[in-house]
Amino acid sequence: MPSEMPYTDVHRAFLQALSHHGTMSSKQAYKALLGAYARYHDDETVPMEDQVADVVASINNKLHRYNQRVKFVHFELINTDFYVFCNQTESAIDRLQNCYTESELSLFRLMLRELACTEDNKIRPIACLNLTTEISGKAISMMRAEELLEEWEKAGYFVQLDGMWYFGPRTTVEFERYLSQNFEEQMQKCKLCNETVFYGIKCATCPLYFHRDCMRKYLKRLTKCPGCKEMWSFPVS
Ligand SMILES: [Zn+2]
Ligand SMILES: [Zn+2]
Repeated sequence: MPSEMPYTDVHRAFLQALSHHGTMSSKQAYKALLGAYARYHDDETVPMEDQVADVVASINNKLHRYNQRVKFVHFELINTDFYVFCNQTESAIDRLQNCYTESELSLFRLMLRELACTEDNKIRPIACLNLTTEISGKAISMMRAEELLEEWEKAGYFVQLDGMWYFGPRTTVEFERYLSQNFEEQMQKCKLCNETVFYGIKCATCPLYFHRDCMRKYLKRLTKCPGCKEMWSFPVS
């Protein structure tokens, strides 16, 4: 249902927070909305959590003409929803080019390559730091590499979880095309919806991956893997 909400300072403040962070979990987005209401809303109404979606819809109506968009992504790795601010006038790599040196960008690309080419799309911190030896251009110290990883994690490009690095929610939105074009062989497509699967669920008997949501829906009607036709033997959490 399209939102009837007028575009106000609340929207502006919320958008500013989101474009500043680049990526927010739905919880952070709700917090930002509470803050915007507290500052700009005339009365003392407190928004409900589900109003974030309405505010985002109004913002997207407005942003449309600027070729920008707030995208909603369900990030399967940690089963959390995120909002990602996307500027479609420039590529994600171009935007990073404005903030980082050639060698730093080279490290970023190596991270993408390494994650794309490693089973389960996860790598150890030491493997990330070792990528500094492969950088094209001026060398980067391990310390600078650590700083960069921290920055990129904050911006939502990568996620550290249980001592491993993973693609972050922002990367799954902004670099989906880059990854599926450059690492077509390695990146998995969900056999059910044909979209890229970053952190889905694997069939026990064949090499196929699926989105959990897709598989859950599928198993309501059918019981065999759509790839190998073997009986699907375990529940999708
Ligand atoms: Zn799917
Ligand atoms: Zn299978």
